[in-house]
Amino acid sequence: MYSSIVDFIHKLYMTEETVPLHVPLFIGNEKKYLNECIDSTYVSSVGKFVDRFEEMVADYTGAKKAVVCVSGTNALHMAMMLVGVERDDEVLTQALTFIATCNAISYIGGHPVFIDVDKETLGLSPNAVKAWLIKNAEVRGGECFNKNTGRRVKCCVPMHTFGHPVKIDELVEVCNEYHIELVEDAAESIGSFYKGRHTGTFGKIGAISFNGNKTITTGGGGMLLFQDEELGKFAKHLTTQAKVPHRWEFVHDHIGYNYRMPNINAALGCAQIENLERYVENKRETAKKYQEFFSHIPEIEFFIEPADCRSNYWLNAIILKDRKAQQAFLEYTNDHGVMTRPVWELMNRLEMFEEYETDGLKNTKWLADRIVNIPSSVIK
Ligand SMILES: *Cc1c(COP(=O)(O)O)cnc(C)c1O
Repeated sequence: MYSSIVDFIHKLYMTEETVPLHVPLFIGNEKKYLNECIDSTYVSSVGKFVDRFEEMVADYTGAKKAVVCVSGTNALHMAMMLVGVERDDEVLTQALTFIATCNAISYIGGHPVFIDVDKETLGLSPNAVKAWLIKNAEVRGGECFNKNTGRRVKCCVPMHTFGHPVKIDELVEVCNEYHIELVEDAAESIGSFYKGRHTGTFGKIGAISFNGNKTITTGGGGMLLFQDEELGKFAKHLTTQAKVPHRWEFVHDHIGYNYRMPNINAALGCAQIENLERYVENKRETAKKYQEFFSHIPEIEFFIEPADCRSNYWLNAIILKDRKAQQAFLEYTNDHGVMTRPVWELMNRLEMFEEYETDGLKNTKWLADRIVNIPSSVIK
């Protein structure tokens, strides 16, 4: 059975060689814009591509304002600061995520609390969040506190796993009820919509990544999405060293950050986003082919997008019978020229985070033993 899967994937990607998990594709204006950028000499911290890229992303996602960052990780760090997370605050998030989500919380001394995911989205479960809050939280003076630890519960960070939107409107509702700020880790989900609205535009802030392995890339980079234009402007100020605008004076009014994406990376981004819809359609076609193929293999479930969503299918995922099958599949495919990988080691199992609270993580653990990601690049 495994050999038929390997054959299928080699045919799908029309190669005998090793099929990577996800590689970027440059078929548009990338070289043209990079040349323009170099010819202009504005490759660094000023230049027109940055403004243009921010406008294009705001336009595409429907955000009121978009602000570039050097990476998705520092976009998340910035988001934590902007919603007011402080040292010793608790932040509700999922253990099934890439480490950047938790690192961003930790940079400011926040404490992640790991809540379970839904099996049908792979992302943070609104029911599990609500159950944890009912059991552990109380609202006092317009703020939410953990009754057991005494710490403030300031923020909730769901992640749209592999590009599949979480049940974000239910999370918005729970967070509003408990006075908790909502930040979306939309690092993987550019091009993914929930009930017709782009992921990352439901929370107070959304963070996107343009790392080389994501759906579109700027080499390295990130973007903050805002519904509140004033907050977006403040983010722009903080990410650019908080310099007070002046033609020659250097005066700064906050401890700022050098988090601005260089113009040369934004040039690449402008070219990439022109092809985003095409890439997403292509990835969705591939997902359909996988779905068809795996429908004939009863032991393996191909993960399909949740209801009411258009997912970008950033990384395709299959769910195997158990951990033993997962390990055997990983070994066979990686030995036979198809790159596959399990989901990230759960955050609560990493040394740095193993002391933090969890809600038991029933679905999370079940999924971690079974998920495997399979090749998902755009097919030329
Ligand atoms: C990629 C990713 C990030 C971070 O992005 P970088 O641009 O690599 O810093 C954050 N969260 C998740 C879930 C990611 O997949």
